[in-house]
Order: sequence, then structure tokens, then C-alpha cells
Amino acid sequence: MSVSNEIIEKIKNSNCSSDETFFQAVKEVLDSLKPVLDSDPIYKRHSIVERLITPDREFKFKVAWMDDNQNIKVNTGYRIQFNNALGPYKGGLRFHPSVNTGILKFLGFEQILKNSLTGLPIGGGKGGSDFDPKGKSNFEVMRFCSAYMTELHKYIGPRVDVPAGDIGVGAREIGYLFGEYKKITSSYEGILTGKPFMFGGSLLRPEATGYGCVYFTDEMLKYAGKEGFKDRVCAISGAGNVAIHTIEKLYNLGAKPVTCSDSKGTIYDSRGIDLPLLKEIKLQKRASLEEYILTNSDAIYTKVEDYPKGGHEVWNIPCDCAFPSATQNELTGLDAKNLIENGCISISEGANMPSTPEAIKLFKENNILFAPAKAANAGGVTVSEFEMSQNASMSKWTYEHLDEMLEKTMRSLCKRIHLTAIDYGVEGNYEDGANIAGFKRVADAMIAEGI
Ligand code: NDP
Repeated sequence: MSVSNEIIEKIKNSNCSSDETFFQAVKEVLDSLKPVLDSDPIYKRHSIVERLITPDREFKFKVAWMDDNQNIKVNTGYRIQFNNALGPYKGGLRFHPSVNTGILKFLGFEQILKNSLTGLPIGGGKGGSDFDPKGKSNFEVMRFCSAYMTELHKYIGPRVDVPAGDIGVGAREIGYLFGEYKKITSSYEGILTGKPFMFGGSLLRPEATGYGCVYFTDEMLKYAGKEGFKDRVCAISGAGNVAIHTIEKLYNLGAKPVTCSDSKGTIYDSRGIDLPLLKEIKLQKRASLEEYILTNSDAIYTKVEDYPKGGHEVWNIPCDCAFPSATQNELTGLDAKNLIENGCISISEGANMPSTPEAIKLFKENNILFAPAKAANAGGVTVSEFEMSQNASMSKWTYEHLDEMLEKTMRSLCKRIHLTAIDYGVEGNYEDGANIAGFKRVADAMIAEGI
């Protein structure tokens, strides 16, 4: 049996396989790493894979808080510190009812490789809670964030672990979390990124993931000889931070983004998504996308219950480039088939692990350009690291400077992956290229640092 298969078998029979989503992520990475593990015995000798898939530590704690009706509520809080071979633990906090240890482990594991790929000095971690900010008043969100930070503050620090936002954690939540940390510790330090600009945030952080994803895709199209976004029709899922800023940058580069979606339905606007309206509905009112057609009656709104069975409406719409930017496993085998049949040339994962394994298999079999999440959405963590640097030096960088640095980082990240794929005989396979390049940097650091 080859070294890589031996390792995969060992992991299948370990605790790791009991968390389905986590195991799916690990398995996908290990499949890509076969040529590295089989050709270089040093990684097996140092048990790098076993060490990499085991978090350094996991915290799970009670978060008790009071709602506006003076009822005491209890949620579960988590922080997983996965790997700090390259720098302080770094990764978002997610507040969503679906949060559990398995999901956070999958996200944290992916985060190690993503952060490694950026070339910046950051390790991997992830955290959050099963608390749902949706439908809560600002005071309820504030009381929850204070209670959550009462425990979290024990584990984080500017050189230890620097969380950021993720689903359900935006500038509002980060502001409340930061305020509570300051109150508990009397210390004004960069312990979180994604902070509002007025107290140490980076100007470009809200835009970073979406903009970065478009820069990456632009570079990937170039390597494939399909240069430029001009007049390309793009399909985007999601209507949150990532989706909105992906749409914005696509417009900047001359593309036509025609879809967006939320947890209740999909908008298809063949003239191009009305971005100011989308921002008003989702960022200001925090309302349902259904409101879009009250203003733009030519657009089509499809409710989730009317989606194709086993698929998502967004991927039924013909497009040149697709940007799944909502959540995990939102793009199925059926969706991949529809995209391919409709002539789609590239898929860029704005969300974390949005494509199912069947979908990825179909993309590869049909030579569709596929930018995996750990590469395509690394713009967010890149600008988070810029925020850490600014906080450490008590300096402020301009919007233009940050955008330039983000673009440069995303384009060079794409180049590194492209060249790694060529080195390992899989040119054009950005998934294998990203997994190998991300793994090698962190694995070599682990070896150099000893056990
Ligand atoms: P937000 O919470 O801002 O937005 C998520 C959006 O997706 C919401 O509009 C939500 O709908 C929608 N959504 C949720 N589930 C579904 C579904 N099943 N079908 C369609 N739409 C759905 O999150 P972000 O935009 O920040 O994050 C999106 C993804 O990107 C996540 O996977 C996250 O981990 C990843 N990511 C985010 C980064 C960032 O910087 N924000 C960085 C790297 C990765 P509704 O409005 O109804 O809730």
C-alpha cells in the first residue's frame, strides 16, 4: 500500500471520521497530497498529517445571557486553536444555529492551509456559537457578545489567537466583543480583526473576501488564456458580505453579475443585480431578498421551496463564471451538471466548501477552472493580517494602499498555486495546487520547530 493510502486508512479508522464535514475536508486534502506524501518520506516520519488534523486545543463553554424580556438564555460557545506553526491562531467566529464542533473543525482545518497559502505569518483557528443573531435586537446581540467574551478573553491575545468575523459576526458583533474585552482587561489591543475603522479596523476588511475572490479568478482566467471579465455573465449565490463585494468588484471589472440568493430564495436579474438596492435590503434593513422585486419587478424571485430537487436555483441560470458565496455544500452534483451544460467556464468558491465532492469531481472531469475556497476566499484573512500589522504598529493604511496590497497578494497566491500544480504534473488543477502549496509551507515549519 502506498504511504498516502496507508495514512488515509489510518485516519478513516480514527476519531476524525466521526465528524462528517470535517472528514470530508480532510479526505479532499489528502487526495491532493498523495504525490507529496508518496514522494517525500519526511512527512510520514514526522507524522505531519496526524498532527495537522488534530487541533492544538478546543474550548467549549456555556454562554448565559438575558433577552429583552428578561428571560435567561443559554448557548454554547467554542474556540478551536488548530495550528500555530506559522503565527498566532487566526480564523473567524461564526454565530449560527448550525455551529458545532464538527463544522468548526472543518473550518479550522481549512483555515490552516488557507492562511499558509497567503504567505503571511498566521496560524489557523476557528470559533463561534450556536447563537443566532437573526431577529435579535442590538441590545440582545450586545448582551450575548459580552457573555461570550467573558469566557473567550481567557484564550486570545494579539500574539496568541486573533479571531475575526464570519457568518453572523459582522462589524456590529466585533464592536461589542472588542468593547467587552477592553472592559474586562483594561487593555486596548488588536485581539480581533474586522473592527470598525474608528477603533483600529482596516478600511478594506468588509470588501476583502469578495474583491480578493474576483482578483484571484481574473488571474486564473489569464493563465487559462481566457483573460478578462468584460461582459462576462456571472452567477453569485449568497447576499451577505462576500456575495455583495464579489458583485461590486465584478462590476468594477466590467462583468455582469445577474444573481444573488439568501436562505429563503434567489433573485435573477438579467439586466444585472441592482447593487445599491441589494445593499439597502441586506446591509441596512437586514430583510429578505424577496423585497428586491418590489422595486425591480422585471427581476425573477424563486423561493427555496421551488428550487430544483437536490439543487439550487442560482446554478440553473446560464453564466460564464460562478461564485458560490453563501455556505457549505450549497452546490451539488446536479448544480455542477447544470453549470457545465450551460457553458460555465470557472467556479470560484467565495464561501467555505460550498461545492460537494460530486460537484468538484464533475468540474475536474470537464476541465472547468475550479478555484477552491482556501485560495479563492483568502482575501479576507489577508486583509485581517494587514489589520494586525497596523494595530501592532499603531498605524493606518489608506484604502488604495490596502486594495493594491490585496490585489498583489491574491495574484501572487494564484501564481504560486498555478506553478505548484505544474511542478506536480497537474497543471490547471487549482485544488491540488492549493492543497500542496498550503500543506508544504506549514508542514515544513512544523518539522523545523520540532515535536
Ligand atoms: P453573511 O452572514 O454575511 O452572509 C451569508 C449569506 O448567505 C446570507 O445572505 C444568507 O442568507 C445566505 N445563505 C445562508 N445559507 C444559504 C443557503 N443555504 N442558500 C442561499 N443563501 C444562503 O456571511 P459571509 O458573506 O461573511 O460568509 C459567506 C461564506 O463565506 C461563509 O461560508 C463564510 O465562512 C465564508 N467566508 C467569509 C469570509 C468573510 O470575510 N466574511 C472570509 C472567508 C470565507 P440570509 O441573509 O437569509 O441569512
